[in-house]
Amino acid sequence: MHDDVDRVLFSRDAIAARVAELGQAIADDLDALADHPTEVMLVPVLTGSMVFVADLIRHLPHKLRIGVMSVSSYPGRSIESKGALIRGGLPDDLAGKHVLIVDDILDTGQTLTLVRDIIAEQRPAEVRTCVLLRKDREQARSFPVDYVGFDIPDEFVVGYGLDYNDYYRNLPDIVTLRTEALR
Ligand code: 5GP
Ligand code: MG
Repeated sequence: MHDDVDRVLFSRDAIAARVAELGQAIADDLDALADHPTEVMLVPVLTGSMVFVADLIRHLPHKLRIGVMSVSSYPGRSIESKGALIRGGLPDDLAGKHVLIVDDILDTGQTLTLVRDIIAEQRPAEVRTCVLLRKDREQARSFPVDYVGFDIPDEFVVGYGLDYNDYYRNLPDIVTLRTEALR
């Protein structure tokens, strides 16, 4: 295991099992929509969701496109949100589409609010949201999301796409870091 890791919250096997369940739940809901077979526009919020999205889409057999958005709220060495900023991307043909926004982690809800509002301007048929992780804090718990992978304590986590200063995204497990690593 990486020297900087403090605790493993979710192993790669636990993540894989939960992502399969999430994919099944999303697929079932898409199948239940009136305009079956449904076409979906998936909007991953980069960079943190890239590993999650790569795994999730392989559980969705639907006609599907991907339009990435890039949002940054923990620039560089921050371990608390500095306010969400759109840094690029944005699909421009969402009118009448079923949109699924996918993010790595729900913390203050600023990122999803921003992304959802921008997407809503294009009048999609429907917008759903999916996060792999949700932090145990009031702002996150009270924020409406459709699909949640895991609820986690209010701690800073990395791995499986999540970073600290752009490192650790390649760790296969979701972990906390030793305090000495956070500098
Ligand atoms: P929110 O806008 O909900 O406050 O924060 C969401 C974004 O902040 C996530 O997409 C993620 O990029 C970043 N973030 C929030 N909490 C964590 C965390 O514990 N670890 C990492 N690596 N990023 C986090
Ligand atoms: Mg993010």
